[in-house]
Amino acid sequence: MFLVFDIGGTNMRLAVSRDGKSLEEPKILKTPKDFDEGMLLFKKTVLNLSDGEKIKAAAGGIAGPLDGKKEMLVNSPNLPGWIKKPLKKTIEKFFGAPIFIENDAAIVGLGEALVGAGIGYAIVAYITVSTGVGGARIVDGKIDRNKMGFEPGHQIIEINGPLCPRCGIPGHLEGYVSGTALWNKYGKPPQDITDKKIWDEVAYYLTFGVHNSLLHWSPDVIVLGGSMMKSISLEKVTENLDKILTIFPKAPLVKRAELGDKGGLYGALAMAKQHYE
Ligand SMILES: [Zn+2]
Repeated sequence: MFLVFDIGGTNMRLAVSRDGKSLEEPKILKTPKDFDEGMLLFKKTVLNLSDGEKIKAAAGGIAGPLDGKKEMLVNSPNLPGWIKKPLKKTIEKFFGAPIFIENDAAIVGLGEALVGAGIGYAIVAYITVSTGVGGARIVDGKIDRNKMGFEPGHQIIEINGPLCPRCGIPGHLEGYVSGTALWNKYGKPPQDITDKKIWDEVAYYLTFGVHNSLLHWSPDVIVLGGSMMKSISLEKVTENLDKILTIFPKAPLVKRAELGDKGGLYGALAMAKQHYE
């Protein structure tokens, strides 16, 4: 049986797959702030889900950049208590099975590329717009090789722009379109913002991030996901993109993500299988 997980700043999701294709109903829990507490809850939940059956491999995503060996978080505003804690080794010890860990946005991108909006495309660019902004480049069904991961949210859109809520540097994409940036700017949760003009402006800025990522990643398709995409008009993004992207004869297709909250788990299942087989 395969174990898959997705550890976010607010919730963690765990699920098992007996056939390596479909997922059983995921268990969703509040992510403990403390790493040791989190690991105990993780172990208890897996024992419950697996019903004593042996785990042959596990994979999952976690919110934040990982060290070069993909064993632990090196930074994370959402999970400060988990930084530099032996995540991979601890889970490996629990179940005696190989464990593969990735940045959460990259693993959702892999899920979308293989079983969601990116099916049938060789090079998929995934960008998620949520509390923060992240993403990854997926090539031939695998997360593209990288040294430190992908951080499209921290590309500079304007050198004198507003400060990035995550790193405090001016002009990052995340400072314009993330949930945190909008909450800071308008003083309310983004889901309570109903003014169409504000959302059009968010779509406008997002277009520049999408544009720059397209130039560097040169994908067949770009998939946009994350909670903020519920309010951002895909039509506006495509329309603006057609105006500013002139160096390529035609802009690649821009699509919405299709897997919702389960994208990370499907990506993790693909990754567990890729590394196990
Ligand atoms: Zn930043």
